[in-house]
Amino acid sequence: MTTHPIVIVGAGLAGLRTAEELRRAGYDGPLVLLGDESRLPYDRPPLSKQFVRGQIDDTTLRPAEFFAEKAIELRLGVRASGVDTVARRLLLSDGSALDYDQLIIATGLRPKRIPGLPEASGIHVLRSHDDAAALRADLSTARRALVVGAGFIGCELAASFRAQDVEVVLVEPQPTPLAASLGEQVGALVGRMHREEGVDLRCGVGLDSLVAEAGAVTGARLSDGAVVQADLVVIGVGSAPVTDWLAESGIPLADRREGGGVLADASGRTSIENVWALGDVAAWRHPSGRHRRVEHWTNAGEQAQLLAAALLGAESPAPGVPYVWSDQYNVKIQVLGAPGGADEIRIIEDDGRKFLAHYLTGGVLTAVVGAGMVGKVMKMRAELAANAVSV
Ligand SMILES: Cc1cc2nc3c(=O)[nH]c(=O)nc-3n(C[C@H](O)[C@H](O)[C@H](O)COP(=O)(O)OP(=O)(O)OC[C@H]3O[C@@H](n4cnc5c(N)ncnc54)[C@H](O)[C@@H]3O)c2cc1C
Repeated sequence: MTTHPIVIVGAGLAGLRTAEELRRAGYDGPLVLLGDESRLPYDRPPLSKQFVRGQIDDTTLRPAEFFAEKAIELRLGVRASGVDTVARRLLLSDGSALDYDQLIIATGLRPKRIPGLPEASGIHVLRSHDDAAALRADLSTARRALVVGAGFIGCELAASFRAQDVEVVLVEPQPTPLAASLGEQVGALVGRMHREEGVDLRCGVGLDSLVAEAGAVTGARLSDGAVVQADLVVIGVGSAPVTDWLAESGIPLADRREGGGVLADASGRTSIENVWALGDVAAWRHPSGRHRRVEHWTNAGEQAQLLAAALLGAESPAPGVPYVWSDQYNVKIQVLGAPGGADEIRIIEDDGRKFLAHYLTGGVLTAVVGAGMVGKVMKMRAELAANAVSV
């Protein structure tokens, strides 16, 4: 009898870490890691930081030999186009099919686009290595950049562009940068730093239209009627889970209005037998009963450990305290715990640039956010783990 492989779809961080964890936990059967990009699995966080600034060229996570050593069959440049969960068969973009014993979905996100923008050079989104390489090439000659959206990636790019002496206009429809993830009080402190670094930050304003001449972007009209010049534009308005290939599969998906993604339990198991999901694409069930997607690096590794243990029937590690970092200028912003849903934010320290904020829910500390406060943030880990509540 042939044994079908465990097939992981998506050779990004979550897919790679799952393959690693399955081997570490003792799974020695066939294992396929399938990805539609043609390069070896790579790290994305440096793309908006050191890579785009030209400080590093390669963010590969594991060399090719690693996959041979671990007997992980790496199939790159092939996209999963559908799945028959009854026959346990994955359909591939090259017309072939792949039978699986267990299917693990780790297809990540795709940047949202703003409809109606002109087809012109100089307009970018950032998710993949190819996106970053194209952006870096244009950055080398850019003089004035417009960044649309002051989320983590928009803020990091604004900082990277300033490091290259490029003028930056950063527009954000919310009242402050990072308002959705950190709240307006802390977002204002992040905005202050960008202004000090010379960014022309315009909050409460969106993009109306882009202007292009001779096939190249030259500027934009904003929703308040202002016109800005720009020879480089980045659209950083968020990303959506890559689930279109699952549309006919019957695998339950979260409502798009609630962030979408593949619905899974707190170990990554979907309600369809032998189908699992993790990483940015997955909406895992939280202790509160709600499903939530988490779009951060540390989460992918932690979910890989939990999923591999559940799939192999091994003891699950205790879930960690959620952690996110973002490097902007010379400051590391760190988010430890779950700031969403806090009913009180206390600014504990603020020296005009570095700051420390505590997030409380019902008087209980649920998250700490620091800028340039690495030691003070990390020492709160035990307290936050003890306080972990269903928010
Ligand atoms: C520019 C940038 C900077 C970031 N910086 C930080 C940071 O500072 N801190 C932090 O905590 N997090 C950061 N993140 C987030 C972090 O990188 C992600 O959380 C992490 O990459 C998620 O991994 P993933 O494997 O779930 O998804 P991905 O890394 O997106 O991997 C998914 C893979 O699946 C492939 N795929 C999609 N559809 C198919 C298909 N049908 N068939 C086959 N393959 C498919 C995709 O092409 C991709 O290669 C950053 C992300 C980006 C883009």
